[in-house]
Amino acid sequence: MPTTPATVRNLIGGEWTGDPAVERRNPARPEEVVAVAPSSAAADARAAVTAARQAQPAWAATPPPARGAILLDAAELLRARHEDVARDLVREEGKTLPEARGEVRRAIDVLRFFGALGWHATGEVLPSGLPDTQVLTRSEPVGTAALITPWNFPIAIPTWKAAPALVTGNTVVLKPAELTPLCAHHLASVLVEAGLPAGVLNVVHGRGSVVGDALARDERVAALSFTGSTAVGQGLHRVLSERRARVQLEMGGKNAYLVLDDADPAAAARVVAAGAFGATGQVCTATSRVYVTPGIREEFTAALVKEADAHVPGDGLLPDTTMGPVVSKDQLAVDTAAIARAREQGARVAAGGFAPRGLLLRPTVLADVDHSSDAAREEIFGPVVAVLAVDDYEHGLARVNDSAYGLAAGICTTSLSRAHDFAARVQAGVVKVNRPTAGLDLNVPFGGVKDSSTNTFREQGTAAADFYTWTKTVYLGHQ
Ligand code: NAD
Repeated sequence: MPTTPATVRNLIGGEWTGDPAVERRNPARPEEVVAVAPSSAAADARAAVTAARQAQPAWAATPPPARGAILLDAAELLRARHEDVARDLVREEGKTLPEARGEVRRAIDVLRFFGALGWHATGEVLPSGLPDTQVLTRSEPVGTAALITPWNFPIAIPTWKAAPALVTGNTVVLKPAELTPLCAHHLASVLVEAGLPAGVLNVVHGRGSVVGDALARDERVAALSFTGSTAVGQGLHRVLSERRARVQLEMGGKNAYLVLDDADPAAAARVVAAGAFGATGQVCTATSRVYVTPGIREEFTAALVKEADAHVPGDGLLPDTTMGPVVSKDQLAVDTAAIARAREQGARVAAGGFAPRGLLLRPTVLADVDHSSDAAREEIFGPVVAVLAVDDYEHGLARVNDSAYGLAAGICTTSLSRAHDFAARVQAGVVKVNRPTAGLDLNVPFGGVKDSSTNTFREQGTAAADFYTWTKTVYLGHQ
């Protein structure tokens, strides 16, 4: 049934503003316009920062439990809209309905987690070397934070940045991805309806090179948290470092799995396939290269091909679909070009490798991939996994670590000592043993190393609050 496109507007100083100008179409049904959003100017970004700065002192003075209570109320509002928001997420970004429900559930739980954090003590009381004195630390909000987010988790990522920023007393300007304005709009709506005061959260839609750039260059923005590609992140790092502002970057990956002879081939294939093809492989922690030791290689590769072939790509709202479309025409062109290049560089396409129609890409297994080829070294942000041969564990570990990236890595083994050794020596921010690289708990730190991350402050869990606060040390004596 055709649906009316949603009108998305900016949120600046508590007002919904900006003329909707840019259409977002359903990647599974290009004839369907899902949302129309503003294409904002740099001046809109600056106006949002002005509103955020004005709102900040009063918000910082609001007791943390009262700040948290708004997040908890927003969680309840989102829970009441869970199914509608999940369906919009499918239509806007292209996940399957179960994946979209999971993502909205995650946003609800993140709001709850950080809402409850409002009741937790921050800071410590420490002994002093001075008589009749106590030392205590206070966590002060940094001020106004800019959040720049990608399209691939269009409600979860804005939520896991905004919630810790808000509960710790900061005001926020969010710049969501151009491809997914509607999901960000749903988040902003529940926070406003839950009673967030005007100016505490501002949302500005538009191009990264315009709105994102203006936020990065605005001296009044004390901290910028970015998730997206490494190329854009590195540019932002230069701008923020120059003006000595706080910056947190979570970027691309080339996440590796090591499958050892002692693993069960079918179980290993299930783990790798879940990491590689879940959410159409459009996940920063997706498994992208698999190193396999000789004794299991043939059986594992055959089982992985079977997993890939079993997928039913299609419209995520249809019940039989197990994998949604690629997010856009541009992204599909990048994915298929990467597959063609892999072929030219000697890979064998053992499964998939083509787009049957529209923006649907069949899950793709590239076999006999050379470690020096592009398919082993460059991020492919789609359902494509490369299989590579290694001689043994040490050879495999060295190959896993021989990468510019270091976001997630995994090992399939039944050896406890190998699992421990791998966890200790692998160069990655997230390590999985016999579990898919993709899929994270919300209560634990998340982030990468090398070109995947600034590797300073972690996101998620209570660690997330560190980025949005600074420590003041108070010596409290009495006369
Ligand atoms: P992208 O870098 O193109 O865009 C991310 C955001 O940055 C968007 O909001 C975009 O508008 C904005 N932007 C673009 N140019 C900008 C500029 N010059 N100045 C300021 N902002 C700018 O990334 P994408 O295509 O939206 O997302 C895919 C990428 O994100 C992949 O590389 C993926 O690995 C990465 N990612 C990483 C994580 C992680 O946690 N490490 C999570 C999800 C996605």
